[in-house]
Amino acid sequence: MNEALLEVRDLKKHFPIHKGVFSRVSGHVYAVDGVSFEIRKGETLGLVGESGCGKSTVGRTLLRLLEPTDGSIRIDGADITHLDRANLLPYRRRMQMIYQDPYASLNPRMSAGEIVGEPMTIHELGTPQERQEKVAALFERVGLRPEAAGNYPHEFSGGQRQRIGIARALAVGPDLIVGDEPVSALDVSIQAQIINLLMDLQDELKLSYLFVAHDLAVVEHISHRVAVMYLGRIVEMTDKQSLFEMPLHPYTEALLSAVPIPKASARGRKRVILTGDVPSPINPPAGCHFHTRCPYAMPRCKVDVPALREIVPGHVASCHLHDDGVKVPLGNGTA
Ligand code: SF4
Repeated sequence: MNEALLEVRDLKKHFPIHKGVFSRVSGHVYAVDGVSFEIRKGETLGLVGESGCGKSTVGRTLLRLLEPTDGSIRIDGADITHLDRANLLPYRRRMQMIYQDPYASLNPRMSAGEIVGEPMTIHELGTPQERQEKVAALFERVGLRPEAAGNYPHEFSGGQRQRIGIARALAVGPDLIVGDEPVSALDVSIQAQIINLLMDLQDELKLSYLFVAHDLAVVEHISHRVAVMYLGRIVEMTDKQSLFEMPLHPYTEALLSAVPIPKASARGRKRVILTGDVPSPINPPAGCHFHTRCPYAMPRCKVDVPALREIVPGHVASCHLHDDGVKVPLGNGTA
């Protein structure tokens, strides 16, 4: 098994809410509330949950685009949680991001070639001539014509713009790429092309990915392991096969029931419709955050926070159904 590239421990990101003329802090948005995971070299961890669960904030915080409230972030064993801007720069080069909306994330006043070459300029890599050659090579590698480097973002299709975003992320030779819903805005046929490109690049360059998505179907193909988030916390995490064949958390079961999977393991799976909206991360429910929507909820779920613990080897979940240390198979949402 490969060693860990990224280790995140008890990461928290709470946003203060300011009120009144004195901007008094009147509360917090508990966007990420104690998240721990690691990503091994050459591995893809899928991070899944409904909109507003904090998954994108996890990606931005571990890249230090947002300052963490608490917890630690380590790259190859080096603690980068509190590094200042200058000391963080070499690690920034090793961790890049691909955004959901490739159009919004590309500067419309820069040509595609300038966009892809910009990170090399920032990190002072190579001569202008070398940078130009590298841009042309990156264009080819991501499936774009090098002659298109002079065109502007609006002259490309959505899929092509995401290829530019990928080329820009690759320009500085990263080890880890955080994909923040990188295919969610694309047509299904284009999604498959981009996912296949990312998988080819991973094989070739031994990249590690944190792949953030709201849809389990999207992460199934690309991920080695999957973490499921609900209201700022990871509620289940394991390898892809175990998660899809034997979900141990009712929230994962509900997400999975919405995925059309033509597999024997999915036969007989009923649709679990979650009622109600995701509660507010400003005032999350006590006990298990999921108890207001869980079809299996018991009285203790309203009071006691279930610990995230290993239920079967390599498979962690936070649910009182498994409190006796025994795996309780879920039954399609019928308690
Ligand atoms: Fe449902 Fe209770 Fe498990 Fe939470 S702890 S997921 S409310 S059964």
